[in-house]
Amino acid sequence: MVRTLRLILGDQLNLQHSWYQQRDEAVLYIVAELKQETGYVRHHIQKLCGFFAAMEAFAQTLAEQGHRVRHLTLDDTADDQDLPALIRRMVSETGACQFEYQRPDEYRLFSQLRALQLPVPTAEADSEHFLLAFNELPEHFRAGCRHRMEPFYRKMRKRFDVLMAGDKPLGDKWNYDADNRQALSEDACLDLPVPLCFANPVDTIRARLARHQVDHIGQLQGDLLWPINRSQSLALLTHFCRHALPWFGRYQDALSEQAPHNWSLFHSRLSFSLNTKMLHPLEVVEAATVAFQQDDRVSLAQVEGFVRQILGWREYVRGIYWANMPDYATCNHFAARRALPGWFWTGETKMACLRQAIRHSLDYAYAHHIQRLMITGNFALLIGANPDEVDAWYLGIYIDAIEWVEMPNTRGMSQYADGGLLASKPYAASGAYVNRMGDHCRHCRYNVRDKTGCHACPLNSLYWHFMDRHDRELATNPRIRMVFRGWDDRPEAERQAILDHAQWCLDNIETL
Ligand SMILES: Cc1cc2nc3c(=O)[nH]c(=O)nc-3n(C[C@H](O)[C@H](O)[C@H](O)COP(=O)(O)OP(=O)(O)OC[C@H]3O[C@@H](n4cnc5c(N)ncnc54)[C@H](O)[C@@H]3O)c2cc1C
Repeated sequence: MVRTLRLILGDQLNLQHSWYQQRDEAVLYIVAELKQETGYVRHHIQKLCGFFAAMEAFAQTLAEQGHRVRHLTLDDTADDQDLPALIRRMVSETGACQFEYQRPDEYRLFSQLRALQLPVPTAEADSEHFLLAFNELPEHFRAGCRHRMEPFYRKMRKRFDVLMAGDKPLGDKWNYDADNRQALSEDACLDLPVPLCFANPVDTIRARLARHQVDHIGQLQGDLLWPINRSQSLALLTHFCRHALPWFGRYQDALSEQAPHNWSLFHSRLSFSLNTKMLHPLEVVEAATVAFQQDDRVSLAQVEGFVRQILGWREYVRGIYWANMPDYATCNHFAARRALPGWFWTGETKMACLRQAIRHSLDYAYAHHIQRLMITGNFALLIGANPDEVDAWYLGIYIDAIEWVEMPNTRGMSQYADGGLLASKPYAASGAYVNRMGDHCRHCRYNVRDKTGCHACPLNSLYWHFMDRHDRELATNPRIRMVFRGWDDRPEAERQAILDHAQWCLDNIETL
């Protein structure tokens, strides 16, 4: 007898959810692989395997805890056209009198489930994951309004009493950015941790994906290195606090061509565990603050840099997403239309920084934040790439890419397609930034000091082309306008030569 059918989506693997606090024989949990989820964008093979493996592991854990669970594979759901069709079939087959689901974090699934018509009553539960409750979001975020992360972050620090001394921030400063954001020194390279990688076998899942002709990008050699259950996620958290947190803030913006483990540096790689809800954001923040209290190597600047990402940015981008959906998905402030070059899917470019960021993405389904924002994102921004295509690339390629977090980061932070709802300026940079933050330029075919000529770093002329294209707007932005002073002071012929070179780069983008 099934009284209640409960749906668990692939990013709802939250073992601490109140649903599981009681065992009830009359409740049947459904964890289902679905063709619609493999095909709404072309995903990385590691992302497909990661989600399916984590869902299977979650179903198994629930069953071991005494819950009734049905784990359905792509083979079992092949005839269900989509998620609503599967639910209708399951309700009818089981004779359930009630259907329940946790509110999805993606607008796409949220709309699908809210529109679902069933012959039995439906109830929606909270996913019990985020720090800010869903119904509180309108108090902090309004559609079409420009918000800023810093005041939001301070409110969150106070509310959750994280790194506070009474009403004041610990150390009397909210922000340690000035101490952080350094390029890697040779000494720092010696401290770079060996990333903790797992060896989760996914051959059966791969075979299933192939059997159902699921198209994908990227590669997977052998086992899956990403955590697929709570204990692996906790091990990754412990590993981060011990081996990377002491340097996290200082080097969070660093780039490296040659350092060992340059794909992970001092980053946590916890985003997949967090976004699938195998870890709760507060437990991650607590683990970091406990490490700060107990480990002399972890300074306030390091832990604050990390807490800011979770308590601040992560919750902030979610607020921007929900306040502005569905319009956010089509915003294109700069009316950008260009296609991304084909080498975004192969990494075959002569630009060392882009080659490495794309290769890391293809090899690991991961690139760290600065690679996403200041390398691939910056390039897409400078060339005027269509945000729809940029969004699809980011949504497909990263193991942690779920629309609520991917879209505001891509459209908002990186492409400024929302016209500044999320960020106060476009994150546009020339080769000088890349050179300052790492050693790519020393190993590049292009010369970072040149703006014109066949060896000139394309980012230099493209940067000025972008600035010149949008000068009317950007020259009035207080965070950017000073760069125009230097530009306007250059002789007209020099400016034109730079713009001509940028045009040459755009015309020959596939060969850069
Ligand atoms: C263009 C672009 C696309 C992005 N797409 C995604 C995405 O699809 N999914 C995703 O989780 N993050 C995304 N980010 C944010 C960030 O780059 C990733 O969260 C981070 O690189 C994940 O690696 P990590 O776990 O090692 O992070 P760390 O550097 O170790 O940071 C710790 C944690 O902080 C959180 N965090 C850090 N920065 C952000 C941010 N800007 N927004 C939200 N959370 C943040 C993440 O949960 C992350 O795990 C994107 C950023 C950009 C610029």
